[in-house]
Amino acid sequence: MIIGSHVSFRETQLLSSVKEALSYGANTFMFYTGAPQNTMRKDINKEYTEEAKKLMLENNININNVICHAPYIINLANRSSEEKWNFSISFLIQEIHRCEELGVKYIVLHPGSAVGITKEEGIKNIVDALNYIIKEDDECMILLETMAGKGTECGSSIEEISAIINGLILKDKIGVCIDSCHINDAGYDIGGIDSYLDEFDKLIGLERIKCVHLNDSKNLVGTHKDRHANFGFGEIGFEKLMNVVNHPKLKDVPKILETPYIGDFDEDKNRIYPPYKFEIEMIKSNSFNPNLLEEIRAYYK
Ligand code: FE
Ligand code: FE
Ligand code: ZN
Repeated sequence: MIIGSHVSFRETQLLSSVKEALSYGANTFMFYTGAPQNTMRKDINKEYTEEAKKLMLENNININNVICHAPYIINLANRSSEEKWNFSISFLIQEIHRCEELGVKYIVLHPGSAVGITKEEGIKNIVDALNYIIKEDDECMILLETMAGKGTECGSSIEEISAIINGLILKDKIGVCIDSCHINDAGYDIGGIDSYLDEFDKLIGLERIKCVHLNDSKNLVGTHKDRHANFGFGEIGFEKLMNVVNHPKLKDVPKILETPYIGDFDEDKNRIYPPYKFEIEMIKSNSFNPNLLEEIRAYYK
């Protein structure tokens, strides 16, 4: 099982990410190269990167399973001004180069939101941008994330992801990241993951799935909300999520938790704690622990 979670990328960059992942008992992880909501980025530090790689080697983390996530501010679907669109494009190119410096092979991208235009127009803007961005000799592959379909998000259905890929010149240079919360919110029951994967295979090809985001959902199938819940504590539930974890067709694909931190509002402290160590343990043991959230609070207190 290749499993990890979202981790931070602090002062010591990739080294801090690896250390955090190891503290959760993970054998992979996902990070942002800076704050996801802004464009302030520090140069990649070679020494930290080398130390991180050494630590990964010592702990059997294969860097080919490590995932970067592009910042939310990138919206390739929005071409309401050439300036905005060009900014998204150049920022994504920069992020790809940062991944290449780090030796990270995959970057997850939200395809984009069609602001004030139709989804078809949004998809065309995404395709045009990606045809400009993706180069034959890129060492880091963009993974289009399947979205919940909140607002005007493009890429919530298998058909929309397929439409984007079909428009690309370098079709072999793109992959997909499926997100269980988003799939549920987009209108596909995770209980029917087999038929989802069959349809995905027909239109896109299962070999394109390079990452799975493992999240429960606070909402029912088809609600287009995109609010993640802790593993087994949402509307999808433990069993259906475990069917994704253990699915033979997704066996070698890295699984990443993006479940919410646990709040502790005792004594007006408003603290939050990462759930990942505990969720990973629960997943590995394959048995649901209804007291998990309380145990996490007790552990970090
Ligand atoms: Fe995402
Ligand atoms: Fe996700
Ligand atoms: Zn989400």
